[in-house]
Amino acid sequence: MHELLKQNQKIWDLFTRKEEYYPTNLDGHGRFLYDESALEQAFEPKVSIYLLDQGMEIEYPENKTFAVCLTHDVDDIYPPLSHSLLSSVNCLKNLNFHDSVTHILWKFRGKEHSPYFNLSEIMDLEAKFGAKSSFYFIAAEDDPIRFRYYIEDMEHNLGEISDKGWEVGLHGGYYSYNNPEAIKKEKKRLEAVLGKKLLGFRNHYLRFRTPDSWEILADVGFRYDSTYGLQNSVGFRNGMCHPFRPYNLKKNREIKILEIPLVIMDVALFTVSKSYEEAWECTKNLIDTTEKLNGVITLLWHNFVFGCSFRKDWVRLYVKVLQYCYGKGAWMTSGDEIYRWWENRS
Ligand SMILES: [Zn+2]
Repeated sequence: MHELLKQNQKIWDLFTRKEEYYPTNLDGHGRFLYDESALEQAFEPKVSIYLLDQGMEIEYPENKTFAVCLTHDVDDIYPPLSHSLLSSVNCLKNLNFHDSVTHILWKFRGKEHSPYFNLSEIMDLEAKFGAKSSFYFIAAEDDPIRFRYYIEDMEHNLGEISDKGWEVGLHGGYYSYNNPEAIKKEKKRLEAVLGKKLLGFRNHYLRFRTPDSWEILADVGFRYDSTYGLQNSVGFRNGMCHPFRPYNLKKNREIKILEIPLVIMDVALFTVSKSYEEAWECTKNLIDTTEKLNGVITLLWHNFVFGCSFRKDWVRLYVKVLQYCYGKGAWMTSGDEIYRWWENRS
């Protein structure tokens, strides 16, 4: 595939994201900052279009035409006070006194009553549409904002997720994305609780350096990454709406990891959209594009969204995506399933 891409310099530069190698513009979290024209361009997966024109053929199980990779970053298991207050006030506005109180008082009833202990609910929802997903858990000790949770306390939940056939992956710590030793430690810690090897990874805050982060993840032993997306918009970061093997221009070689690029993150989608309708329109366009090109569209919906009362629109949109893609006969599944399929394809 790389040889084919190299024949077209423009396509090659877009695919490798050459301009990210020596970035001049980074945001406060060290992430590459795109200008308006690059964000505009991200709606068109030019590299995938080129590959299909050149004869690339993609097949999915049971002759499905495209895939939807569903993922959740488990940032919070216990709502921070700000979330509890927002949820509570929101319920009051809707005259829902019972839930309003629940959002504040869950702590006194025990940790397991936390509204963000909602992973089974999310799986139940997805199962209704014949879908599965990936949950990426934090196993880092440090976080810039707040204590998140002890992964050891989640042993039972990880077991349930894994037994049901959903995926547990690592949500790399904020400070770890450029630190192989730290990622290795988190991987070991999560694997010890889960009792099996991890395949998938996504970094907290989508912190990522092209191409170094891929090299680190491959060295540490991850099989796929799904961090590679836009933090302040939606779309195809390097023109790909298919999983791919990244290429390191500094070392002139392929990197031994599969990237399943992130296309829509809930927070980014609702930041760029002025309304629910606009968010849906944008999502629908990206789904339709992916379908046309037999691609894979990866969604990230944080688990807290399903347990608070001030993000009801976000949940509504997620359900709408499930309905819409179910209607199209899409393969809706987790990152590890996509990874296995992709690797065994040829
Ligand atoms: Zn996160």
